[in-house]
Amino acid sequence: MKKSDRILALHRAVEAMARGDFTPSIPIADDDIGHLGKSLRKLSSYLQKQFDKNQSLYRIMVECNLNLRLIDVLNHIYESFQDHLPYDRISLALIENDKNKLKLHWARANYSNLELNTGYSFPITDSTLQKLIESQEMLIIDDLSAYLEKHSESNLIQTATKEGIHSCLICPLIATGKPIGFILFSCRKKNIYKKPHRDLSLQIASHLALIIEKTKLYRGIKLNKQLIAQKKSLEQRVTHDALTGLFNRPAIFNILRKQILHAKRSGLGIAVIMIDIDRFKSINDTCGHLIGDAVLCEVAERLTRSARSHEYIGRYGGEEFLAIVSPYDQEGALKAAERFRNAVACQEVSTNQMFIPVTISLGVAISTEQETLDENLLLKKADEALYLAKHKGRNRVELASLNDKKDAMDA
Ligand code: GH3
Ligand code: MG
Ligand code: MG
Repeated sequence: MKKSDRILALHRAVEAMARGDFTPSIPIADDDIGHLGKSLRKLSSYLQKQFDKNQSLYRIMVECNLNLRLIDVLNHIYESFQDHLPYDRISLALIENDKNKLKLHWARANYSNLELNTGYSFPITDSTLQKLIESQEMLIIDDLSAYLEKHSESNLIQTATKEGIHSCLICPLIATGKPIGFILFSCRKKNIYKKPHRDLSLQIASHLALIIEKTKLYRGIKLNKQLIAQKKSLEQRVTHDALTGLFNRPAIFNILRKQILHAKRSGLGIAVIMIDIDRFKSINDTCGHLIGDAVLCEVAERLTRSARSHEYIGRYGGEEFLAIVSPYDQEGALKAAERFRNAVACQEVSTNQMFIPVTISLGVAISTEQETLDENLLLKKADEALYLAKHKGRNRVELASLNDKKDAMDA
């Protein structure tokens, strides 16, 4: 190659590197231009390494944001930094909740027979660890055997030495200003860790601390959600009927009391509708109790589906339900009762390949005046109206009269 062509090739290589292409073709030889080529090759390989290192750090950052599992990030660290940071083994140790112990949570090495296994824990009274926690600074040990002579009580260093480790870099993981654990890079050779390794391990540690905190936070949120769900399910069990899922008797009574108080304050009316399945005993007798249960559930489901958002339905007793609709005038209350009746009667209940015609009878009691806004009176009157509906042939709605309150209370 001509001298001018070689200079041009070097010139192009420098331009390529300036554009971010760190692997251009660079001619080398044993003369001055050739030596320049050799230096440029060194520079290009250094730049490529730096680029790879930054890419790996960037990937950890992305993984932190994607909420990837901690173990995936640790494996990624182990697999990505070998060209930038020497290690035969990487370990993650975290300070336990009681702050008295340090526990090994993860370790990976390029040799087997690990002495320092996952789950291994050390008391924090270990002087090496205590110093690291207090100073929050990294520690490089160039010769573990020599270090052990001065710090013979350190369990961590003793065990590492047994494993054949001769140098290590221990970097604290700091989250919100406090140490939460350490990442340990260790090597079977002495005097390995230098200044550039310090900077890189600090960067790795800061990302790692972030993802550990994030994982803890995430677990906390998840636990919190689980507790809220458990509380909800407990509350549901206390206030709801296990078979039909409707409000149970105490809960619907509670709602009735609250609605009466509200009706008294607002001067608006309240209607109570007592509902009873017609000839339910014969369904049980002919189809069996289990089918009877399924019919009960379907009736409850149909009532719920046809109820408006301000109408409450509860299971009053066996095959009896109570609906509270308020505020309603007489016409509105009767319309609501008719809506419920129709929702049940409109279609046979299909269960276990059987089609069962099911109807309900309903007794409505409505009060718009202070003196008749009484729980017992309303229930009694609704029950009487229900009795009348049964008497008049079932599958119908009857309205109670609350005109003479005194008569009604005394009856
Ligand atoms: P009426 O039209 O007069 O209301 O007739 P009925 O047969 O519905 O009335 P009755 O009060 O004689 O019967 C109600 C039946 O409901 C009796 C009881 O065994 C049944 N029952 C009550 N609770 C349940 C339950 O949870 N599951 C089932 N399968 N049956 C129930
Ligand atoms: Mg009954
Ligand atoms: Mg009945």
